[in-house]
Amino acid sequence: MTCAPRRVAAANTAVTPAIEAEGLHKRFGNLEVLKNVNFRANDGEVVSILGASGSGKSTFLRCLNLLEMPSAGQLRIFGEEVQLRPVGGNLRIADRKQVDRLRTQVAMVFQNFCLWSHMTVLDNLMEAPVHVQRRSRAEVRDEAEAVLKRVGLIERTRAYPSQLSGGQQQRAAIARALIMKPRVLLFDEPTSALDPELVGEVLKVMRDLAEEGRTMLIVTHEMAFARDVSSRILFLENGQIGAEGSPRQLFGGGVNERFDQFISRFNQG
Ligand code: ADP
Ligand code: MG
Repeated sequence: MTCAPRRVAAANTAVTPAIEAEGLHKRFGNLEVLKNVNFRANDGEVVSILGASGSGKSTFLRCLNLLEMPSAGQLRIFGEEVQLRPVGGNLRIADRKQVDRLRTQVAMVFQNFCLWSHMTVLDNLMEAPVHVQRRSRAEVRDEAEAVLKRVGLIERTRAYPSQLSGGQQQRAAIARALIMKPRVLLFDEPTSALDPELVGEVLKVMRDLAEEGRTMLIVTHEMAFARDVSSRILFLENGQIGAEGSPRQLFGGGVNERFDQFISRFNQG
């Protein structure tokens, strides 16, 4: 199944950078995991991040969201430079308020859902808007229900995570991200923990979000999905960008030998 071609900005339409990383480095002790990564995702782009296990994909996403502190480099979110200061070989947050504010604009969806097991689906969604953003319960409840409808979970509002399938749990986690009205969605292998028959329902929700023109960065091993939905592919190799281009360019083959080898493993499977 192929999506309609994604919106392409006309030549005279202003392009808004959503997330930019410049000279991004990340070290864990002596292990250099990201090496001078320069990257920009524009507003409305869907970028799939592909690469072998251990190539630094999760670390890259986590640095963009400051769940992991980069060792060096600059980050900009919608043009605003994140204030970071060097301390003993790593960067630290220099302005906590700024980061709290920017973090609400960049939501992350994890492989293992990370729902709170002691809360219903509805309460999982309402927790941050009500307790962190201090918004009214009634208003948030209406929004939560609307978001749950969109991901096809309105029937399971009162269920606990353990009563849901993996696919439903991941859709609940996506709903929990959406209710914060983020401007960018980061997905770290959102379907890798799912039984194969449940992958499709999560990819469908993501496909719908992509078609709405949302800015999304997706680490995935779902090659057909990445090829169909992405406006751009980023191939990470040993902490560096090994190749970058449109799905058509890269999946067409012949651009980067190592990328071709990488995807041939999936084609055989
Ligand atoms: P990927 O998501 O592409 O599989 P990761 O970003 O998870 O790769 O990991 C890249 C490398 O960084 C791996 O060698 C991994 O073992 C290492 N790594 C990741 N997180 C940590 C950490 N918190 N401490 C030490 N090493 C880490
Ligand atoms: Mg990973």
